[in-house]
Amino acid sequence: LQKPERKPDWLKIKLTTGGNYAEIKDMMSSKKLHTVCEEARCPNIYECWANRTATFMILGDICTRACRFCAVKTGMPTELDLQEPERVAEAAQQMGLQHCVVTSVARDDLKDGGASIFAATIKAIRKELPLCSVEVLIPDFMGNWEALQVVMDAKPDILNHNIETVKRLSNRVRAKAKYDRSLELLKQAKAMQPNIPTKSSIMLGVGETFEEILEAMDDLRAVDCDILTLGQYLQPTRNHLAIDRYVHPDEFAKLKEEGLRRGFSHVESGPLVRSSYHAHEQVQSASEA
Ligand code: SF4
Ligand code: SF4
Repeated sequence: LQKPERKPDWLKIKLTTGGNYAEIKDMMSSKKLHTVCEEARCPNIYECWANRTATFMILGDICTRACRFCAVKTGMPTELDLQEPERVAEAAQQMGLQHCVVTSVARDDLKDGGASIFAATIKAIRKELPLCSVEVLIPDFMGNWEALQVVMDAKPDILNHNIETVKRLSNRVRAKAKYDRSLELLKQAKAMQPNIPTKSSIMLGVGETFEEILEAMDDLRAVDCDILTLGQYLQPTRNHLAIDRYVHPDEFAKLKEEGLRRGFSHVESGPLVRSSYHAHEQVQSASEA
């Protein structure tokens, strides 16, 4: 495999700390909470936190899976923290969040995969911050649709589940997940709550072709997925999956057009786009659609 050229200019961003960033960081650690914004060293953190958007990572910071692109630690997870939903809600309230994304590690050790804690977190945020929209980015619960039902019954504003990559590369990129199972999850979620928008994400630059991305879009639309995000994969460390290529912003723009043409109500597509980037706007466009 040819090594891609150095990081292109469009991925270089100026990191400016400011606003209440340090204060929020301290608050998260005093409440023993984890955010993807911090754990994944997301380049959008200043913009998102200033726009009152954050992604909480619940159910601990140790995952039972080991996807080759992901920086989260793998191992035996910690005991369930039943107070975590309350603390997430308090933190969301203190940050004055308008849109809150809740995700988790994969807890294949738990019978319900952590679904009940997702549901409790949605309810706790609703109670504390009634005007804040809540998006959940869930694992596949190993295909346990009863667990999915528990989450859908708590009525998140958006149900997000990532297919991450195209069908051909799925096994290589995220060994314990299954492309078809992820599509089935999105289909089941829609059948359970037709009014809740569903969303998925594909990271680009891991070896997929343009045609394969279009096929993945078609697969998502076939299960009525409403919202799509496309971003550049960035290798967290040298031990993680290598980057195959840096996708040019023009290609991201072209893919956005293709996505909208296929009927997604909202497509975020760009080098620095992450699953939760500009998520507050997606709630709006989904409800307008
Ligand atoms: Fe956090 Fe998502 Fe924004 Fe990144 S894009 S800072 S993970 S909310
Ligand atoms: Fe990372 Fe999620 Fe894969 Fe766990 S399941 S390794 S948190 S991407």
